[in-house]
Amino acid sequence: MSSVSRRSVLSAGAAGGAIVVAQAAQAAVFGNPDEPPQGAVNAPGESTKVIGPKNPALSDQFPGAFSPPPTDVGELPMFWASFNNAPRRIQDGGWARQVTQYDFQISEEIAGVNMRLTRGGIREMHWHQFAEWAFVTAGVCRITTIDGTGAANVEDVRKGGLWYFPAGLPHSLQGVGEDGCEFVICFDEGRASEFNTLLVTDWFAHTPPDVLAINFAVPAEAFRNIPLHDRYIFQGKMPADLAVDQKQAQANGGEPKLRSSFQLSDLEPVRKTRGGEVRIADSTNFEISKTIAAAQVTIHPGGMREMHWHPNADEWLYIIAGKAEVSVFNTGPNVVTQNFNPGDIGYVKRSFGHYLRNTGDEDLVYLEVFRTDRYAGVSLSEWVTHTPRAMVEQTLNVDAETIAKFPTNRPVVLPV
Ligand code: MN
Ligand code: MN
Repeated sequence: MSSVSRRSVLSAGAAGGAIVVAQAAQAAVFGNPDEPPQGAVNAPGESTKVIGPKNPALSDQFPGAFSPPPTDVGELPMFWASFNNAPRRIQDGGWARQVTQYDFQISEEIAGVNMRLTRGGIREMHWHQFAEWAFVTAGVCRITTIDGTGAANVEDVRKGGLWYFPAGLPHSLQGVGEDGCEFVICFDEGRASEFNTLLVTDWFAHTPPDVLAINFAVPAEAFRNIPLHDRYIFQGKMPADLAVDQKQAQANGGEPKLRSSFQLSDLEPVRKTRGGEVRIADSTNFEISKTIAAAQVTIHPGGMREMHWHPNADEWLYIIAGKAEVSVFNTGPNVVTQNFNPGDIGYVKRSFGHYLRNTGDEDLVYLEVFRTDRYAGVSLSEWVTHTPRAMVEQTLNVDAETIAKFPTNRPVVLPV
């Protein structure tokens, strides 16, 4: 279709009801695909051919990039990354892989880690300069923690649960499910590395034995078998019952004021529509999580996470299940659409408009993670339905009667 005929469809459609059917039929090429003339819709078949080297196994996963919707325009920094091609550090007891800002330049506020621990597998006692938030994707993980007052705890976090360790506070992890556990970690700093944490074994090995003797008030000989290299991940024995471990760790200190874990999957959704549902965990209900807010979103086939943005933080998103198309809008205009599969990571800068569509035939389940204490979002349809009609009518050339049909009060997941 020529740009002239597409424009006439657009203006005719806006003019009245008789053209509504034609308008719907043309919806795929709607908007402004004409200037600049980008997109396959503007080009004869010859123009879209790839005649050089290709790798369809990879490029077929990215229809949004390979043949962008005609409404896409300009460019945005790459906002797609994945754990699927991140090198795994494999050790007896599990593995870890990560995507930090060094691999994914846009990811300034969050670094992502994906880890598995076998049943009994231990992620060594350690700490780091950044806060750690995690979501358990499979199995059960036992965490040990100690807070700033010295109150300690041991908690079991099962699939769909979260943990949060404030910056600098030490902890350990152990797989205790039938098949251990798997989880994703978000550090509240894009440059944080899971392979550069302060490990308890490293400090012991690099402290003179007589200093260890003074510090721990036992003979230096007690440390003759300490590991000379760090353990990081290693196969351990299954721990005692939770209550026994808790009692031993707490001793006379009592429980910490704030729990380090939160079972997000036990929450009632804050929003449930025909299109899906949303659960939110931030410092209002998961009190310790002062620097990370998160939402778990489920979108049924054909559904869509509404057009929206977040005024207070960048969004780091992680696909747990299903297939997603994500489109991001910034001034320019620049609009880019990308495709996501399980294990992929997306990143949307603060206040950039975006939506996600479920493009598969099963539920799309994903996490939205933000470096902030409170979840916040602005819904496009809520805004335009809570603006005086005349203002919206004149701006968009959509009549007031039609605007009155728009969903109000942030649907979050469509259809309502
Ligand atoms: Mn850690
Ligand atoms: Mn979002």
